Amino acid sequence: MLDRYSRQILFSGIGKQGQELLSQSRAVIIGCGALGSAQAEALARAGVGTLRLVDRDFVEASNLQRQTMFTEADAQDRLPKVIACANHIAQINSEIVTEPEIVDVNHSNIERLIADCDVVLDGTDNFATRYLINDACVKHEQAWIYGAAVGSYGVSMTIRPHATPCLRCVFEEAPPAASAPTCDTAGVIMPIISIVAAVQVSEAMKLLTAQTDALHGSLMQFDVWRNEWRRISLGPPAPDCPTCGLNRFETLEAESGEFAAVLCGRDAVQISPSHPTRVDLPALTERLRGSGEVKANEYLLRFKTEGYELTVFQDARAIIRGANDVATARTLYAKYIGN
Ligand SMILES: [Zn+2]
Repeated sequence: MLDRYSRQILFSGIGKQGQELLSQSRAVIIGCGALGSAQAEALARAGVGTLRLVDRDFVEASNLQRQTMFTEADAQDRLPKVIACANHIAQINSEIVTEPEIVDVNHSNIERLIADCDVVLDGTDNFATRYLINDACVKHEQAWIYGAAVGSYGVSMTIRPHATPCLRCVFEEAPPAASAPTCDTAGVIMPIISIVAAVQVSEAMKLLTAQTDALHGSLMQFDVWRNEWRRISLGPPAPDCPTCGLNRFETLEAESGEFAAVLCGRDAVQISPSHPTRVDLPALTERLRGSGEVKANEYLLRFKTEGYELTVFQDARAIIRGANDVATARTLYAKYIGN
């Protein structure tokens, strides 16, 4: 163990004691796409003892240009991202415990997902989920590290509730271009992912080794194409911030019901059941065989019919490609999956 981490222990910021703290730490990564999988790999190599990995999606060929943890075989096998991540981490550092969670993050599970951990890292691609993380983390006094990347531009900020401004203090509303829950329709290059993830992981290592004075304490912005690096100082938390000032956690109180989220803006819709449930994937595979082409693995099935492609997960969630609107997606869901 000491040999594996020898260069990190030699670094004065970590040392033997810091390494010990890292090995006893638990980090939660929300979203295991480009940013999240890069964070997971770096934290596993650094020896952070337990990593809870949360993501709703599976690996696709279009991920491979920037999501360096994944391989062509992962895409071919349609592995959920958290499973692919856990598999690779087991090969990179077998001392690390991983807790993969194939779920859509929403108000009903975010508090459970961030519980019992030492730090939360943002690997999401949309502001709706970030406000959810912010609400849950402020409510439970949990430090979290915001990060985002689009095109060649990236941004990061570390939030320690009531000690620093929270996400809502800085962005009272989501920037218009970033408000839709889409998965990177705007395009992105890998180098900016690496930079943002590296800053987030450095901040996580400082937090996990109790070195808050080493945190950058600002809103960091980078553009690797325009060659701009900016560090915007942050004042104290805003006293009238609805979240950390007034303790109103609106996103956690959302009405329960059927969640439908439009993914990727153009041609995919996610449908989630209104009540927590499980799908018997082998049975559903058998049932759908007569209606179209169906392929399944341990975690999900993919069904092609009528020009649509339905991916169904064990939690009864479905991502329906080819559907341009929620109504069509709901109809297909009812027809082939049930409810
Ligand atoms: Zn605030």
